[in-house]
Amino acid sequence: MTPPASPASSAPRSDAGGRLPGVPDAATVLLLNSGSSSLKFQLLDPVAEVVHASGIVERIGQDRGQAHLEAGDLRQPYSGEVPDHKVAMQIVTGLFEDAGMSLQEANVVAVGHRVVQGGARFSSPQLVDSWVRNQIADLGALAPLHNPAAVQGIDAARELLPDIPHVAVFDTAFFTALPEESRTYALNAQVAAEYRIRRYGAHGTSHRYVSEQVSSLLASEGTDVSDLRQIVLHLGNGASASAVRGDAPVDTSMGLTPLEGLVMGTRTGDIDASVYAHLSRSAGMSIDEIDTLLNKSSGMQGLCGMNDFRDITAAIRAGDERAELAMRVYVHRLRKYVGSYAFTLGGLDTIAFTAGIGENVPEVRERTLEGLEAFGIVLDPAANARREKGVRTISAPDSAVRVLVVPTDEELAIAQQSLEVARSAR
Ligand code: ADP
Repeated sequence: MTPPASPASSAPRSDAGGRLPGVPDAATVLLLNSGSSSLKFQLLDPVAEVVHASGIVERIGQDRGQAHLEAGDLRQPYSGEVPDHKVAMQIVTGLFEDAGMSLQEANVVAVGHRVVQGGARFSSPQLVDSWVRNQIADLGALAPLHNPAAVQGIDAARELLPDIPHVAVFDTAFFTALPEESRTYALNAQVAAEYRIRRYGAHGTSHRYVSEQVSSLLASEGTDVSDLRQIVLHLGNGASASAVRGDAPVDTSMGLTPLEGLVMGTRTGDIDASVYAHLSRSAGMSIDEIDTLLNKSSGMQGLCGMNDFRDITAAIRAGDERAELAMRVYVHRLRKYVGSYAFTLGGLDTIAFTAGIGENVPEVRERTLEGLEAFGIVLDPAANARREKGVRTISAPDSAVRVLVVPTDEELAIAQQSLEVARSAR
């Protein structure tokens, strides 16, 4: 089968009542988060902090792709072949057309691309030109699961929207400022230099955004935040911890790639590097097979067959011992990081939980911080159990360390940075 010439035209039109509210007056940013088989998108106003529409194209390159766009009550679906990112991009623009909001008329002033690996070079968002695009492709050697997909998304989007500035926002940018002793592996220095092996971290946009939220909240209460000692726990499907002093990162749990650190949905997190050699020699597995095992079928999934914490907590309540052990392994790793970062920082002022699990699973927060009263960490059980939106404090009033839940908004942060870069480039 050949891809449809105009894929989006086959997406059913919504009735007039379900249409998007029309062309926004204010500047908008189109955000693209390109994975190997998916393309997530959002159209938003980064100043008013309003999301006009969002959606995803899935199963790119597989038998049958699917996509949808959501805006308010409207859900615009698409199903059909999506052989590559170029067609995926055509579907995105078509979905907007069919929803009554042409991207050409939506006052899009920047297209923001989320890029996982920016190497040591990119400490800030970049306007994408051919040189930047080629650098991102070159950094694919360090992030083979992520950067090649980002380049495909960038190429497709630049081709389809050539007159709009494209901006790459790097997950690693915040952590380019890590101190040398924290970013350097105790690996042969020559080999490390030749192959650019060091700790780059990831989720930097979220760690920066959340730590800034914490700082501004405390500053608004009159606290001097210039030297604030923070731990941020970003617990989503991927998970990472960071130690931040003032506005500078001091340490983070992800390393050369997002595999290192905390236990994740499907990733091992920290593991003895000898596991690669052992599985290669004893199980005859190839490097790619081991990579896939450690990244895609380990972590919570590999321990208990589930990676969604809604299922895991329900299974624990029902007496599932594998799920309980998986949770204990998950929390044990988290506590190790909290303890080590508190020492690294020479004391601790705040701990912030964020992302899907950090924001929604009180059991994880409680188990991570239980029994730490001697270290000045006292949770308020009622506040922790409450399901609220927004930034909230869950520590007791007499806790020396302030514990907060801070919803992350990577999309908004990427959109705001993209807008800033696009404007300053004019
Ligand atoms: P990512 O962006 O890395 O895909 P998210 O930050 O969206 O991850 O987090 C997704 C995970 O958060 C889910 O796999 C699930 O484990 C957990 N999660 C999300 N919402 C809830 C909820 N309401 N209750 C429990 N767990 C949740």
